[in-house]
Amino acid sequence: MVSKLERLSIWNAYNRKCFYCDIPIPRISDMQVDHIFSEDLEEKPEKFEQVKLQYDLPSDFDLQAYYNLACSCGPCNRKKSNKQREKQVMLTYYSIAREKELIIKNLFDKYKDNIKASKILASIGSLLERKFLRPKEVVELIHIVEEMEKKVHNPVTITFTIFKENFDEYIQYYKWCDENLNEIINKIQNNLSCLYAICDDDRDGEGFGVRIAFWGLNWQEFSENFAPEIFDWDIVEVMNFFDFYQRSAADLFFSVENDRA
Ligand SMILES: [Zn+2]
Repeated sequence: MVSKLERLSIWNAYNRKCFYCDIPIPRISDMQVDHIFSEDLEEKPEKFEQVKLQYDLPSDFDLQAYYNLACSCGPCNRKKSNKQREKQVMLTYYSIAREKELIIKNLFDKYKDNIKASKILASIGSLLERKFLRPKEVVELIHIVEEMEKKVHNPVTITFTIFKENFDEYIQYYKWCDENLNEIINKIQNNLSCLYAICDDDRDGEGFGVRIAFWGLNWQEFSENFAPEIFDWDIVEVMNFFDFYQRSAADLFFSVENDRA
């Protein structure tokens, strides 16, 4: 099984493009992890031995290793299915995938470190609740952790709004707001690799707005996915958390679902 963090690493290692046809895969949910040498060889040991000989693969070739995994679009993944292509093509695929192996590993370690840092913060939070730590000690510890996960207290916040007029009923309006909230959360989850949390949402009867805090937001990644040409929502405000709320965002950070691996 490929974990969520591994999927994220593979997707980024292949620059979010299909390994076979080179088309962009902007949403991670649309990526399929393809086994270059088919996964079901695992269940056919004799066939697997033949394939290893035929393609000069090492005897300990691991079908689940990163060097056998590629980022693929749906159509290419289906087209390839279990067919093995001619030797030269397969070997070219395999040699490119081998170069990606280290990149995938490095990305994976980086994402894991981010999550580790946020877990430390969460455990500090629970120690404090159980009064094992005095606030002063917590502050000192948080300073240490901050070096690992920069700007925990002061993430950037972005306010997104969407408008629609004339709702007959309030219930209908609320349902519309909920749908929009889901939509934007899905978009963030599928396209951004950073941690985030909802600060508040605004339902004034005429539209819907939501302010979201991002830790370690990559602006390149953001602008590629949330550019006005491809995104119906308006971005009405970008501010540091502290400037808006006049407080630290550390508590919000503790509540972020950190176990995303
Ligand atoms: Zn493709």
